[in-house]
Amino acid sequence: MAKPKVAFYWNASCGGCEEAVIDLAEDILKVVDAVDIVLWPVAMDFKKKDILALEDGELAVAFLNGAVRTSEQEEWSRLLRKKAGLIVAFGACAGLGGIPGLANFFDRDSIVDWVYKKQWGVDNPKGIEPQTEIKVPEGELKLPTIYDTVYPLDQVIDVDYYLPGCSPPPNLIMDAVMAILSGDLPPKGSVLAPSKSLCDECARNDSKPDKIKIKDLKRPHEVIADPEKCFLAEGIICMGPATRAGCGERCINANMPCRGCFGATDDVKDQGAKFLSALGSIIDTNDPDEMERITESLPDPAGLFYMYSLASSLLKRRKLDSEVGSRG
Ligand code: SF4
Ligand code: SF4
Repeated sequence: MAKPKVAFYWNASCGGCEEAVIDLAEDILKVVDAVDIVLWPVAMDFKKKDILALEDGELAVAFLNGAVRTSEQEEWSRLLRKKAGLIVAFGACAGLGGIPGLANFFDRDSIVDWVYKKQWGVDNPKGIEPQTEIKVPEGELKLPTIYDTVYPLDQVIDVDYYLPGCSPPPNLIMDAVMAILSGDLPPKGSVLAPSKSLCDECARNDSKPDKIKIKDLKRPHEVIADPEKCFLAEGIICMGPATRAGCGERCINANMPCRGCFGATDDVKDQGAKFLSALGSIIDTNDPDEMERITESLPDPAGLFYMYSLASSLLKRRKLDSEVGSRG
């Protein structure tokens, strides 16, 4: 019997999610044994024409990592949606917009202006910007258009399941692959990780006092954190209360606070707002000046609270652009 066909593809991402598949170690042999991988740009030399040649729906599943911010990424996402029975948004950037989504605090023109003209070290006296078409002796070359907005995958195509994390841990990847192969899947739209907060699974939760009260916020590099104590109780921002469990407390175990890469639990609409509300309840002052001093000690609160989720949050972006379908 033919094995189910599977595709892995990457959009706007760092490549870490592709590495996460490699991190399956010997388990990858079980995957390779059970499925026929027909697209995996980081590891195998398949071409777009190979995917175009498939029947619609012929792929059992496509795992797409990365956010969508170029016309080429949108085109590939739509192509794989057409060819695959299931689409899994693989990792924080596909599911939430992730770190690339922080670009939504700006717009394309200001980013291009900074990167190609204004930043230190740029030598570009003619102010040349990237072009999407260029004529060379061999003919005309076309490059993808960069969109004004970074989109999580489900703002571009219909997504069936979400595998959270930056990057998703190997045990969750294996569980997802096995669930797909067996057909034993939760309802469409589910996040394939527990819907409880990271604090619920954190070994440091027991060290929390009954009521946390803090008068100062410290950044991780300013102190040596006590490896037994809750970061928040020590005044170090930890997104645990607003973040989904399931990562194995990777950062906490390395004595670093959580930055929220698993996104929020099912019952939370906006991870940043949820954390802001948790933080507000533990700041130990009613004096407006004192409050301002404490909050101003955080250099980039929006970037911190929405580090992974800005593009999928209620805010979405700083300046709205045209709707999906008429990108620019
Ligand atoms: S705030 Fe962070 S350190 Fe404290 S219990 Fe939650 S996840 Fe653990
Ligand atoms: S501790 Fe937080 S930031 Fe670190 S891997 Fe887990 S969910 Fe992601």
